[in-house]
Amino acid sequence: MKTEFTLAQLADPDIAEADKILRKCVHCGFCTATCPTYVLLGDELDSPRGRIYLIKEMLEKDKPPTAEVVKHIDRCLSCLSCMTTCPSGVNYMHLVDQARVKIENEYARPLPERLLRAVLAFVLPRPKLFRLSMILARLARPFAALLPGSAPGAATPSFFRRIKAMLALAPSALPAPGPAAGSVFPAVGARRGRVALLQGCAQQVLAPRINQAAINLLTRHGIEVVLVADEQCCGALTHHMGDDAEALARARHNVTAWVREAGANGLDAILVTTSGCGTVIKDYGYMLREDRDYAEPAAKVSALARDITEYVASLDLPAPQGRSDLVVAYHSACSLQHGQKITQLPKDLLSKNGFVVKDVPESHLCCGSAGTYNILQPDIANRLRDRKVANIATVKPDMIAAGNIGCMVQIAGGTSVPVVHTIELLDWATGGPRPGLN
Ligand code: SF4
Ligand code: SF4
Repeated sequence: MKTEFTLAQLADPDIAEADKILRKCVHCGFCTATCPTYVLLGDELDSPRGRIYLIKEMLEKDKPPTAEVVKHIDRCLSCLSCMTTCPSGVNYMHLVDQARVKIENEYARPLPERLLRAVLAFVLPRPKLFRLSMILARLARPFAALLPGSAPGAATPSFFRRIKAMLALAPSALPAPGPAAGSVFPAVGARRGRVALLQGCAQQVLAPRINQAAINLLTRHGIEVVLVADEQCCGALTHHMGDDAEALARARHNVTAWVREAGANGLDAILVTTSGCGTVIKDYGYMLREDRDYAEPAAKVSALARDITEYVASLDLPAPQGRSDLVVAYHSACSLQHGQKITQLPKDLLSKNGFVVKDVPESHLCCGSAGTYNILQPDIANRLRDRKVANIATVKPDMIAAGNIGCMVQIAGGTSVPVVHTIELLDWATGGPRPGLN
């Protein structure tokens, strides 16, 4: 794609990067067929190619984003399905991230929307506040039906429609908190390795059982696990909302904490059980590339980051005692399959450990979770969830496995089939308890 940035514009490293990305796009439109919003809405401006044009215009003219541009960028799930499909290697992720930052900095959203976004950005990364908000949401849920919906034909969901969606996601009970930050779980028997396990924010409140299963499996196989004391939210939530300053501050904070831990006690890997977070931590090196003090340590942290399934595969687990014959529908989280290109590995691990693994039709399409998307764009998110659940039902599973808490909550909202994390099944198959739900 031909671009027309001026030399002055290209002196900005972010614009120079956008220019590089845009020039790779050859307008072929292959990406449209696998874009969930284009598949649902059929509007070119809700396709990757359409959004790339909008972003190009916005950046080249260096004008504040218009309401029309914001509408179509906001509808993008950042699922990155388009990046898997694109034959030219267009890095849509870095391009849309840049567009979101510009929107956040230069577009005046209506006050209720600004308030809602500010509350989400403040509460979600803080587990204690998030726990409290979930309790309050549960109490408020019976009154959700009284809230008005969006006006018919509205281009964006109303404030109350979004509050309704938020209340609907609150679980009816919360499990007890998991282990405290700073805990160290020694290896059972001879130590083969030492890893940090990302504690996560929403996940540690909604399903601490996931990291517990990872700790059980790892320690049982000779790996010491540390929950690094000074770790924070990885910044993924605010990064996807365009709040770059907040996201980068969190990235720097975590880089400092993990590099300190690696220097003091040694770390073979930083393990992540929430693939949405893993995708962002693996991108810290890129996010902080212009920061003289952090570029190198951030790149080191990114190189140490692994999805839990990548690390477990490297352990060469002993063969399981028997087969369970349990039919597991494997839901491939977008951040895992498109963001980290981990597709076959979790399925192979589950199969090797005795489960009958079924692929889900249209597995490239997002379930609609996408961070805060199911709150901010609830109608599109619900349509995608219903489509995902219907596809899952065709394989008649006993359980659904996924590697991302956001997907697990989203899918569980539309089915009575138990939804578990891949690591819970692997822990069970290698001597741990059968996954309980909460
Ligand atoms: S990230 Fe997903 S929703 Fe956004 S343009 Fe790409 S395929 Fe479409
Ligand atoms: S598939 Fe790639 S090159 Fe083709 S239009 Fe989409 S982003 Fe551009």
